[in-house]
Amino acid sequence: MGAMAEEIAPMLDRVEGVVECNLAGNVYYECKYKGLSLVIAYSKIGKVNAALSASILLNHFSCEALIFSGVAGAISPELKIRDLLLATKLCQHDVDITAFSHPFGFIPGGQLFYESDDKLNQIARHVAKKQGIVLKEGIIATGDQFVASTERKQWIGEEFGAIALEMEGGSVAAVAAALNRPFCVLRAISDAADTDASFNFDTFLHESAKESADFLFLMLDTLV
Ligand code: SAH
Repeated sequence: MGAMAEEIAPMLDRVEGVVECNLAGNVYYECKYKGLSLVIAYSKIGKVNAALSASILLNHFSCEALIFSGVAGAISPELKIRDLLLATKLCQHDVDITAFSHPFGFIPGGQLFYESDDKLNQIARHVAKKQGIVLKEGIIATGDQFVASTERKQWIGEEFGAIALEMEGGSVAAVAAALNRPFCVLRAISDAADTDASFNFDTFLHESAKESADFLFLMLDTLV
């Protein structure tokens, strides 16, 4: 799944036998790739939309696993635009019930961090090694904010140990964990979540989204 049309367009280019299905205000694309049955979903931006799509993919379509592919803002200065990133763990940086002594990001009954699936991550690492692609790894923080502030991104980095941020991964992770289904989150950097973020995002969205989607299909090649 992806959150924006630009994130799923490079996926739709690679598949065949597409059947469109309208559900809860979104289109889901059932399709085939080299014999694998896929459902491609475009959730729209943000945690609520992503959680809804993830639930539909796992419950309605009974998907065995969920892979998110898209773009993210960098927190770590070591991440440059177009770098590929695999989330080891995800959290929600905008959850704040600290007034009741809970840590930032924590909701009682939930988890502060959600770990992505080791088998899917191993496939990603294997593909990166085989293809000579640099795949960075680390914590991704999710929130319903487009972060374009050095101060805010540094706080998120320090509070959660996150190296990148975006607006969907943590909610997809929470849904997949609740439904006990494996997931992983791939992102290519589109901006550095600083004052230039919206300009860089618009400039690099297409190529970074394609980079992430291309990597996703290299992963699928190993499952064929
Ligand atoms: N240009 C879009 C809005 C993009 S929001 C519009 O006008 O409709 C940014 C999207 O890319 C989200 O899906 C999020 O997951 C990801 N993203 C990339 N950089 C980000 C940043 N700096 N902060 C938050 N999300 C970011």
